[in-house]
Amino acid sequence: MKPFLPALLENGKIPSLYFRNQGLIHDHPIVVYADFETYQNKLTDVTRGTHTKVLASMNGAASFGFYAVSSIPSIPSHGSIERGTADEFIKQMLVLALRYRHVCRNPVEMKIRRRELEEHKVARKCYMCGRTRESLEAEMKGEKNLTEEEEMWLASVKSKVSYSFVKDHDHITGRFRGSSCFTCNLKAQMPKQVIVFFHNLESFDGHLLIEAIMRLRAHPTAQTSNENDSDDDEDLQGLSEMAEYQDGDDYETGVITLDWKRISRMRFDIIANTSEKYMQITLGPLVFRDSFKFKDVGLANLIKGQRKPCKDGKTTLSECFPILAANHPFLKKFPGDVSLDLILQKVPMAYTAITDSGYFDLPTVLPQEAYDNDLSGEPCSDKDFKLVGTVAQHFDLKDQGEYHDLYLWTDVLALWRPCAEDGGSIAASTFSSPSLCPLHHTRPC
Ligand SMILES: [Zn+2]
Repeated sequence: MKPFLPALLENGKIPSLYFRNQGLIHDHPIVVYADFETYQNKLTDVTRGTHTKVLASMNGAASFGFYAVSSIPSIPSHGSIERGTADEFIKQMLVLALRYRHVCRNPVEMKIRRRELEEHKVARKCYMCGRTRESLEAEMKGEKNLTEEEEMWLASVKSKVSYSFVKDHDHITGRFRGSSCFTCNLKAQMPKQVIVFFHNLESFDGHLLIEAIMRLRAHPTAQTSNENDSDDDEDLQGLSEMAEYQDGDDYETGVITLDWKRISRMRFDIIANTSEKYMQITLGPLVFRDSFKFKDVGLANLIKGQRKPCKDGKTTLSECFPILAANHPFLKKFPGDVSLDLILQKVPMAYTAITDSGYFDLPTVLPQEAYDNDLSGEPCSDKDFKLVGTVAQHFDLKDQGEYHDLYLWTDVLALWRPCAEDGGSIAASTFSSPSLCPLHHTRPC
């Protein structure tokens, strides 16, 4: 069949096709934005194919940074930059996700006001999907292509038997959210997993995560046969649940034992584009996903877009970047738009100098050639090199470690666009359409 365009609407406008998944209108209570910096091995005389000269190879995570945005009172929003491995990062995320699961399993009881209760009693339609009581009632009775007699019968019983809406409530606050149909109430449950975004996970950070997960799941003595091994799906399901509830865990303080046995029991799934490109990685209560799939631009362009409102001369930079201004530790120390403007510039990073942990103690400003672009092979310009010096001086940076921390904080926080900006929620904070937001999908279409 030949493709054809839809006819214009009566008012001459182009019709739009859309869908809305009612169960997804509520926020993800915890979303994490993360990034790794990696150790580099400088390479000489290595080429890939006939044209590409390989200047360096990645050699494991040197550090990680993350910011967890949370609306759960017992797990406040927090972030950290650490000089540690991908293994340590995953363990920290697992602790966070297991604490979140504990909250899910222990919902706050509903608090409903008298007025809300009265409104609920007379509710005419589901607050999520908008279906009316009458249509739900008809569906309940299996009514389809009714005869005249059947319709009359239905009209006579309608007043006696009526559809009851469910009181849908927020399991974190206990707040009554509205009267919903049974289906929507079931779909609008709290998400079971914590989502961790990496910008460009598919091409880069995903490899570090997979390698780390394999290490964390491996038996310390690398035995290959185990009499408890089972291919039975039901057994695996049971094991994965056991891995998530374990006696002795303290969910309040986050003191949770995570050994290879427990991690190896967790569900481990990959959605891959090719054998080397991972779109999504699931490990038990964690889902790692690529924000680049939804914001198909580099961080530099994301920042550029967010700066736009400042052009009117009335909006300050801090107003354009409230999240960065409020959470970047170096901006807390040196507040103001001058500091923010410096942080938002594409500050050069001496990637090739990150070869081992000694890097962090190196002087704040390294020789100009250390800032050459190792991907394109282009030398660092005088202007960029001057910026390195300006940043180091302005923020009074003591060594490369502090310079690195400043850089990584910007990377992590720039990914998280403020809720207030879109007048929306955490779910809609970075991405425009809640129905197709990356919290529920691996890619926009
Ligand atoms: Zn509904």
